[in-house]
Amino acid sequence: MKKMQQLYEGKAKKVFATDDPNLYIVDYKDDATAFNGLKKGTIQGKGVINNTMTNHLMQYLEKNGIPTHFVEQISDRETVVKRVKIVPIEVIVRNIAAGSLSKRLGIPEGTKLQSTVLEFSYKDDDLGDPMINDYHALAMGLATREELDLIASYSFKINQLLTDYMKDLGIELIDFKLEYGKLDDGTIVLADEISPDTCRFWDSKTGEKLDKDRFRRDMGGVEEAYQEVMHRLMGK
Ligand code: UDP
Repeated sequence: MKKMQQLYEGKAKKVFATDDPNLYIVDYKDDATAFNGLKKGTIQGKGVINNTMTNHLMQYLEKNGIPTHFVEQISDRETVVKRVKIVPIEVIVRNIAAGSLSKRLGIPEGTKLQSTVLEFSYKDDDLGDPMINDYHALAMGLATREELDLIASYSFKINQLLTDYMKDLGIELIDFKLEYGKLDDGTIVLADEISPDTCRFWDSKTGEKLDKDRFRRDMGGVEEAYQEVMHRLMGK
């Protein structure tokens, strides 16, 4: 596997071409942003943690029937993934009220939702990733009805699998964001990352935040929180 030219640099990752046209390499950075890029910083060691953790969880999901883009980790920050076309929809799954949902609906953070909430956002930085519903997604041609249904059913299943997995580690899965991609043959697979950047994790006993909210809200102990989740997940 040869790493070739850089194709894309995002806020937290770079993507490279390889000598295999069907494979990319993602390279995780320590850069952190929040509020659509308004707040910028560095979280030491984040790239290594998010790479390792994402791959660990993707393999667990894969074993449990969720197709993913994961192929192989090749270094502490780099992973080979299948080449996909990202579906420009951010899927948010919520178990407990927090963040933008609390703000928008006036539900205090930490309130258990009576059923799981699934939200879609249109993935567009210039527009600030506005929330959309199925009708918008269909009207804009972002995905077909069948694809939306599959994405929703995968997302609920992932929620169940991750909630159970994290619970055993003493971590409550509050909410998280997923992205999907399409292979050349049209297969929908889970893509992007699953990490403290994209999930809210609260310690089950103390309620302590173990995720990017520590960075967003200037709470301190950001690196320590990422390390704590990694430690519980991987035993290191
Ligand atoms: N999230 C994300 N990327 C985004 C927006 C949200 O990874 O661009 C994650 C976020 O970390 C949280 C969940 O999705 O776990 C719900 O985020 P929310 O809508 O509450 O937005 P926020 O409060 O982070 O602005």
